[in-house]
Amino acid sequence: MQEISLVQKQNTCEFLIAITLEKWYKFPIKLQEAKALKAHMCCPCKSQKNYEECCKPYHTGELQPADALLLMRSRYSAYALGLAEYIIETTHPTHPEIGKKIWDWREDILRFSRDTEFVDLEILCFEEQDHEAFVTFTASLKQQDKDFCYTEKSLFEKQGDLWLYKDAEFL
Ligand SMILES: [Zn+2]
Repeated sequence: MQEISLVQKQNTCEFLIAITLEKWYKFPIKLQEAKALKAHMCCPCKSQKNYEECCKPYHTGELQPADALLLMRSRYSAYALGLAEYIIETTHPTHPEIGKKIWDWREDILRFSRDTEFVDLEILCFEEQDHEAFVTFTASLKQQDKDFCYTEKSLFEKQGDLWLYKDAEFL
């Protein structure tokens, strides 16, 4: 069984309300579908695997990432595909973003996803203990035709059976 915090429950509830409102008012939220169509053969996490056999089962909830590295990769590809709810659901309840209005947070993720080309992902280091793991990676991105990259050491924590993204240090 997964342990779901009160904050996550509230966020999920708020998110469902937001989705319902979107459907009612027909806001243009076709980004996910458009980007998902572009997912074509290669998974956006740069694993060289087919998306269907790589991150898609995590995004659809069919499978849970067995370790923090798979979670990290699936979050990168979720950003690339504009899957904001996956980013929200896989964030630890103590992360500062959790305190934001979920609607604003979701909009921020979607905007970042829309404005960014996810060019490459290089995993530099993966250290895992029972309930804590670190993934150090370099992400290469492009915004408005400008290339940039950053190296991040992400901290993940296991809650029950579920790995969650907790914090990050930029190197
Ligand atoms: Zn993948």
